[in-house]
Amino acid sequence: MIKRDKNKRVLVTGAGGFTGSHLVRHLIEKGYWVRGIDIKHPEFWETKAHEFKILDLRKLENCLKVTKGVDEVYNLAANMGGIGFITDVKAEVMRDNVLINTHMLEAARQNKVSRYFFSSSACVYATYKQDKPDVAGLKESDAYPADPDNEYGWEKLFTERLCKDYYLDFGFETRVARFHNIYGPYGTYKGGREKSPAALCRKVAMANDPDEIIIWGDGKQTRSYCFIDDWFEGVYRLMQSDFRDPLNIGSERMVTIDELADMIIKISGKKISKRYDTSKPQGVRGRNSDNTLVKKVLDWEPQISLEEGLKRTYEWIEEELKKK
Ligand code: NAD
Repeated sequence: MIKRDKNKRVLVTGAGGFTGSHLVRHLIEKGYWVRGIDIKHPEFWETKAHEFKILDLRKLENCLKVTKGVDEVYNLAANMGGIGFITDVKAEVMRDNVLINTHMLEAARQNKVSRYFFSSSACVYATYKQDKPDVAGLKESDAYPADPDNEYGWEKLFTERLCKDYYLDFGFETRVARFHNIYGPYGTYKGGREKSPAALCRKVAMANDPDEIIIWGDGKQTRSYCFIDDWFEGVYRLMQSDFRDPLNIGSERMVTIDELADMIIKISGKKISKRYDTSKPQGVRGRNSDNTLVKKVLDWEPQISLEEGLKRTYEWIEEELKKK
């Protein structure tokens, strides 16, 4: 693993979002100078970035401005959300993300950025490998032959390839991680873009005692979840490494949505029953990360248990709801 100089100027795009605002904080703690860009300020906490600007990165001229004078770029900006959002919104997701990612790569290359990180997703994986709850973990090679479940996955796959092409044609250094359900405090928990851990924490926190909550699907669909601080360590190690192919950043502990809901109910201490709404989207039937490659390349695996991570997330959402 190559050790890199921390005395650097770093750009984080999507710095007003969930992972971006955490990344800014962690990089500053490590001693970097950080510029954050987004179309919105962080919703739940003040940014720690040395410089924070509101700019639309679908426009090349803005990407050229923000990549000036920085050594490294972490591109986390994306028009995205949980399963409800990415099932419904197709053209906008493809258009916005292809524009952001194409313009950001080109601008970073023109401004001679030394290293570029792209946030891909487990949504790139082929649907036919995720057709039952008890699936095998997804190895990086399982993205091909390509058959992502939704437009969001196709767009991520396109940009993964573009990153590779920029290295092959221009020698431009790119690093790509496929995130598997990153969760934690200071993330969206309402409004339609939230993911399953945050949505379930909100439902349970808002429920009476006793009460009932609605689960999307039949509850038997499976996923794995990675806590935000573990996520940062994986992303950071990847950025320091000399590994240029996509790598999973996720947990190998697969649970059903039912089990996830039960853990959150237990944390709340409430007596809550579950009702299933199978008219709601549930995405692929089963998904888990295979971390064989990432363990080997980065010597990384998540350290924070799902129980502990959910507790921290639940407590934060519960406090947020009290403020309203
Ligand atoms: P997020 O929605 O909280 O953050 C994305 C940020 O991008 C938002 O703050 C949004 O305002 C910003 N953005 C959208 N359009 C923009 C534009 N035109 N110009 C500038 N900024 C714009 O999501 P997140 O969870 O922090 O995700 C960050 C990255 O990680 C995204 O690329 C996402 O696709 C990827 N990812 C996240 C997960 C996860 O579980 N959180 C899983 C897979 C992939």
